[in-house]
Amino acid sequence: MNTSNLIPFALNDHGLMVSVEDVPSGAACGCICPSCNTPLIARKGQINRAHFAHDGHQQNADTFCSYTPERSVELMILAQLKEPGQVIHLPDYFLNNHQITSRKSWDIEGVTESQYDGAIIIKGTSLDISFHRVSQYQAIKSKTALLVLDVAQFIETLQPANYKLQIQQLIEKHHPAKCYAWHKRQTLPKYACSKSIPKHLRERPVNPDKVNRATIVIGGVVKK
Ligand SMILES: [Zn+2]
Repeated sequence: MNTSNLIPFALNDHGLMVSVEDVPSGAACGCICPSCNTPLIARKGQINRAHFAHDGHQQNADTFCSYTPERSVELMILAQLKEPGQVIHLPDYFLNNHQITSRKSWDIEGVTESQYDGAIIIKGTSLDISFHRVSQYQAIKSKTALLVLDVAQFIETLQPANYKLQIQQLIEKHHPAKCYAWHKRQTLPKYACSKSIPKHLRERPVNPDKVNRATIVIGGVVKK
């Protein structure tokens, strides 16, 4: 069975994003869907990996609600980026044919909205983030750099345990789902991810609704 369509993260009754592993089973999890505010149940059976599902009393809610595993990962990443003391490992970029590797982790000083899915502040500079690969045309609109956290790719590699830890590792460690779509200091080609992007994605026009749908969790409250 393909389990990549299972939802690992949801909002608890304090308005915080939590992993299904960290809540009681069933309706006792006390979680709601961030998209439709319907109560969720935590399914922790023997067959499928643990996941959240809409409460069956809301019939077909899973069909009609837009809350996807991808969206749950995006919200969890944003919540994790806002954790006090959170650090990030930045991917390589290229300068005059030299591969520049960041050997240290950088403190995240804040998270703000941007024309993409958000932005993080590092040493007083804003670094744009996107949760999906964007066209070169979209990427070069970033003033400093555009960091891609490729949620679709991340979910394909998601192991069926320690979901939250895997989110932390995506942020803090070297990870194949993380790259620059654009870096101001990078010499040609400035579009760092381009080699690994399938041709049909490179040429696909970007849906501006998707690029601008930044949802930020501030103080545990989801702002849209
Ligand atoms: Zn929902």
